[in-house]
Amino acid sequence: MRVREPVLVETLKMRALPEGSHDKLLEFLRLYRDAVQLVVDRIWGINEKLSKKKLHKLFYSDLVSMGFRAHHAKEVYVYAKSLVDSAKSNGGRKPILKRLSARIDKYDYKLDLDSMVLTLKLHNGYEARLKLVVPRKGVEKFKGWSNYEMVVKYDKEVFWVSIYFKRTVKTVKPRTVIAIDLNFDNVTLAVFTLDGGLVRLKRFKTPHRKILTHKIWIERIQKKYPKSWRFVKGVRKAIERHGERIRNISWDYAHKLGDLIAELALRYRSSIILEDLEKIRKNKENKKSREFNKRLGLWFYRRIQFCVEYEARERGLEVVKINPRGTSSKCPRCGDKLVEYERRVLSCKKCGFIGDRDVTATINLYRKYVSKHSRCGVSGVAPNAPKPDEALSGMQGNRDDAMKTHLVI
Ligand SMILES: [Zn+2]
Repeated sequence: MRVREPVLVETLKMRALPEGSHDKLLEFLRLYRDAVQLVVDRIWGINEKLSKKKLHKLFYSDLVSMGFRAHHAKEVYVYAKSLVDSAKSNGGRKPILKRLSARIDKYDYKLDLDSMVLTLKLHNGYEARLKLVVPRKGVEKFKGWSNYEMVVKYDKEVFWVSIYFKRTVKTVKPRTVIAIDLNFDNVTLAVFTLDGGLVRLKRFKTPHRKILTHKIWIERIQKKYPKSWRFVKGVRKAIERHGERIRNISWDYAHKLGDLIAELALRYRSSIILEDLEKIRKNKENKKSREFNKRLGLWFYRRIQFCVEYEARERGLEVVKINPRGTSSKCPRCGDKLVEYERRVLSCKKCGFIGDRDVTATINLYRKYVSKHSRCGVSGVAPNAPKPDEALSGMQGNRDDAMKTHLVI
């Protein structure tokens, strides 16, 4: 059986400056909007299911006689139908279009990423050339991708275009597994071989302190002006500034960490195991859940996971989410309940297992993954659990990694 290779889709959104007069482009956008409205009006009362074939029969020649090209016509009725479908399924009213926006098929535009010029084929044989306003770095990665649809919009006297790109990714066949345990103050990562050997441990600090500082500032301001903070401009601005710092710090961190983990995973040809955050949220008794909610909020962990997943998929690596229930409280060797041995170290009274809290969590995540994937011939033996101090020394000497000043403890 041939497995279909995964397809990556990304959108490049940017401003566009028309070369010369933009009259024809505006005319096209108005005509397009009116045509979509016309189709919406006509199919709103029809309750039978409308296939593309039927839509084509109903509207194609009318649209073409309005001056549209063949693929414009298709885009118009398909878009109109999607508007009607979503309005009906939400129990809403008939859509009335106000904005100027058009979806354009790949046959009706030409994109030159070297000169950053976009040529649109308009109605009645007209063309519009637009210069794309985007840093070169932003488009560099899309060379070699294939572009398909695009959307052009006119909003507050500015033209915007969004171009959709896609490419297939070669899947990496996993040889090892990386388990990632997200914590309030650190991210612990362990690389396991498929037969349970622990190859590598790493621990990354999170910027939680910096984020908390800004959060505390926001709360302080809100407390000081409990009634007015929403309405007084200066106060609101101060809050927004702290909010923006939080956003920047967390995205910056998530991007760097996502990239770093994905590069490591590629080097080890790993599947990546993440905790299923949805399951954490639902599991109220979970200590981690309480810690998350009280201090930082799950959004920060979601952001990190988003970046890890994104970077991993871009490299063709598998990402698996595992229910983290019990991963920080059960003995990975015998399944008994773990108790605190000393700060950040857990032990099992039954079998004598002793391990660093976060490393133990990664072992448990790995074991859950293995039992879920035992069909791959992976044996279910407990990995060689590292001693607490052994684990830590293993985590300090990561001299080969960039960013260690920022991330590694
Ligand atoms: Zn045990």
